[in-house]
Amino acid sequence: MEYYSSHINKLIEQLSRLPGIGAKSAQRLAFHILNMPKDQVEQLSASIVNAKANVQYCKNCYTLTDQEICPICNNPRRNRKVIMVVENTRDLAAYEKTGKYDGVYHVLHGAISPMLGIGPDDIKLKELMQRLSQDDIEEVIIATNSSLEGETTAMYISKLVKPSGIRVSRIASGVPVGGDLEYIDEVTLLRALEGRVEL
Ligand code: ZN
Repeated sequence: MEYYSSHINKLIEQLSRLPGIGAKSAQRLAFHILNMPKDQVEQLSASIVNAKANVQYCKNCYTLTDQEICPICNNPRRNRKVIMVVENTRDLAAYEKTGKYDGVYHVLHGAISPMLGIGPDDIKLKELMQRLSQDDIEEVIIATNSSLEGETTAMYISKLVKPSGIRVSRIASGVPVGGDLEYIDEVTLLRALEGRVEL
């Protein structure tokens, strides 16, 4: 890559660190950016910096938001007695898109994976248990992915929560094994939610 200037190389290198972006895509994106009008490039870089500076975890459900408490937790029409536990904010967005779930969420930001060395303390699990001990909760719906990590996490949470007497359920199969929730269509998601089984 010596035939590019060091500025171009640096841009390619930074882009190739993004998930799913290989060396070729990084090159393509870099040249696309260099061909963009200056003001568009400035808008792009400003929106990256602003998002990073202003987005934080909701103090209640830990989803990514630009307010202290996210709009879902703040909405008086949501049923605060039902908490759906998801792995990340994208999964939350997938359920929100169905428009049929009226409870609130808890975002773990990951899943337990002994293979990758990710333990219960590395995800927002303590925070979930704290919510359950403070608030009046009737049901915890575990909607982690059906991957090995998602299932391990679901089992772990169920064991933790059950002694409290709170109902614990798991979204039904129908979500393909190893499937990432965000790629599953809304009908399948709704069916998985409605067909959830008590653990
Ligand atoms: Zn929230």
